[in-house]
Amino acid sequence: MALVSPFCGSPPRHAAERGPTPGRKNVMRLVLIGPPGAGKGTQSSRLAAHLGVPHLSTGDMLREAMAAHTPLGDQARAYIERGQLVPDELVLNMVCQRITQPDCHAGMLLDGFPRTVRQAEALDAYLHGRGTPLDVALELAVPDDEVVRRLDKRGRDDDRPQVVAQRLHAYWTATRPLLDYYRQRGLLRSVDGLGTMDEVFARLLRALGRSSPHCS
Ligand code: ADP
Repeated sequence: MALVSPFCGSPPRHAAERGPTPGRKNVMRLVLIGPPGAGKGTQSSRLAAHLGVPHLSTGDMLREAMAAHTPLGDQARAYIERGQLVPDELVLNMVCQRITQPDCHAGMLLDGFPRTVRQAEALDAYLHGRGTPLDVALELAVPDDEVVRRLDKRGRDDDRPQVVAQRLHAYWTATRPLLDYYRQRGLLRSVDGLGTMDEVFARLLRALGRSSPHCS
């Protein structure tokens, strides 16, 4: 089944929408990839604030849609409750609407997206069309047994053991291939996700070539 188009068709061409202002520093378009429970959400919001870019979490967006009982939320619910990925078309439409907002033109941190190679290809096509390609794909690496321990403590609706097993399966089969996808493009940087939140955050900053807030 082919996508109608990557995201919402042709990227905007107006000068004001073409992307970062020339010469502006610290413009960052990045994605954070990692298994469920890797700490993507916490680290992403902290990192996005540090970099001064919006934090876009597809998990949060989908949970908001479910809580508001929008058509998207109602369609997504069955997949999320089973620990399966929401179909690419639904996620791509949702992300398209967000990513084309003016606050994303100068940079963004995508958390939980892309999660399939098809999503990554659609994102690349969109960003290249705008002349603003992705800067970095960060992997937050956490072993499966640690993931299971963390999610067991967290207790969100989709953290029940059977659902966690399915989410891990989805990660291994659909999302891990993204690591090779970004490695081949020279964009991948892997960070050890074990340790305290501050330790992991400092590693993420180092992977981005920035010094830790505690060291500066
Ligand atoms: P986690 O990383 O802990 O699994 P998220 O909050 O990122 O949690 O995602 C929760 C659920 O939302 C996923 O298990 C999946 O069903 C759905 N989801 C989130 N992002 C995507 C995406 N990019 N593509 C498909 N499904 C997604």
